[in-house]
Amino acid sequence: LTSKLDRENLAAERIAALREELAEHNHRYYVLDAPIVTDAEYDKLFGELVALETEFPLLVTAESPTQRVGGAPLPAFGSVRHAVPMLSLNNAFEDDDIVAFDKRVRDTLKAGDTPVTYACELKFDGLAISLRYENGVLTQAVTRGDGQTGEDVTANIRTVRAIPTRLRAKTAHGKAPAVLEVRGEVLLFRADFDKINDAQRAAGDKVFINPRNAAAGSLRQLDSRITAKRPLRFFAYGWGEIVGESPAGSGDQASSVAAPVAGAGASAPATPHDTHTAMLDWLRDLGLPVGQYRAQVQGAEGLLRFYEAAQTHRPNLPYDIDGVVYKVDALASQRTLGFVSRAPRFAIAHKFPAEEATTELLDIEVQV
Ligand code: NAD
Repeated sequence: LTSKLDRENLAAERIAALREELAEHNHRYYVLDAPIVTDAEYDKLFGELVALETEFPLLVTAESPTQRVGGAPLPAFGSVRHAVPMLSLNNAFEDDDIVAFDKRVRDTLKAGDTPVTYACELKFDGLAISLRYENGVLTQAVTRGDGQTGEDVTANIRTVRAIPTRLRAKTAHGKAPAVLEVRGEVLLFRADFDKINDAQRAAGDKVFINPRNAAAGSLRQLDSRITAKRPLRFFAYGWGEIVGESPAGSGDQASSVAAPVAGAGASAPATPHDTHTAMLDWLRDLGLPVGQYRAQVQGAEGLLRFYEAAQTHRPNLPYDIDGVVYKVDALASQRTLGFVSRAPRFAIAHKFPAEEATTELLDIEVQV
């Protein structure tokens, strides 16, 4: 009994130290855009904290980085509260973690041995943004921030050519709703990143450490003329608030319901389609860029095949990815699975091992 108490005391000490260290790294990464450790090093510390908190659940507190998303919004920008929170994703590194994820999903859905259909996507290595369209017109763009409140970067986003300021009115998959919040990743292609760094060097300015960092720095410029010179890209992967059109002939009452990908406690679907795959097809038809490398697969085996294929394609992609993301495709099942504090239970990020990053950097140098 004594030894158990000792172990708990030791764990409490280590947990406190890890939280302090992670909080510092979070601040540098999300707020200052100036990390001092690699993502792999950060993930290792984070993983150690998750493991200790899993072993000693009584030591979990609301302030723990495992319970929170991202960093505080910069005061230089106006802050906007997200109508539907913007969450993070749980991470997995090993195939066994994916097999366990699939088992948990089947258990919760009471699916038995019936394989679950998943939507697989690339995990774009940029920063999350929420775009608000009202009656098809872009009205606001907000960073993820701490997940509840983000920075208003509308003026900067308006300079991004990859992001439509007006949605296509009518598509094969239905019309644009009265309000549509699109969630996705802002990123820089590698070739553009190299050009930006060349220009920075020539001007005697600081160079960016990687495309993600350069994208973050470009998006959070106080002078949008600078953002306008940076060819930022965007890929949509989800949605927030959707206020639909009223059903034909029933007056002008619109329904506003939190959507499943980012929303906690959604009561009923306001989505015009019932799978993640169909929703992304719909967003693409509305004129939003959606990553073309996607797949609908069955069960854990299908997930692991997608991972292998993505790893093979990775060096040939024009942008950085740090893994792949699997989401239960049926939105009704997503609602059944719901959320834990900082991430959905119906999705997981399967990250690539850290060593790959080095090989990839070499590949780029050869390509350029
Ligand atoms: P994350 O990057 O591991 O995953 C969640 C994010 O993935 C989402 O918010 C979204 O922006 C993005 N994403 C990309 N493609 C997506 C897709 N297809 N579908 C859904 N989401 C997609 O989590 P996080 O909370 O943004 O950040 C944690 C990660 O950031 C860590 O794992 C670490 O690698 C890095 N980090 C590094 C430091 C550092 O000091 N080096 C500090 C903090 C965080």
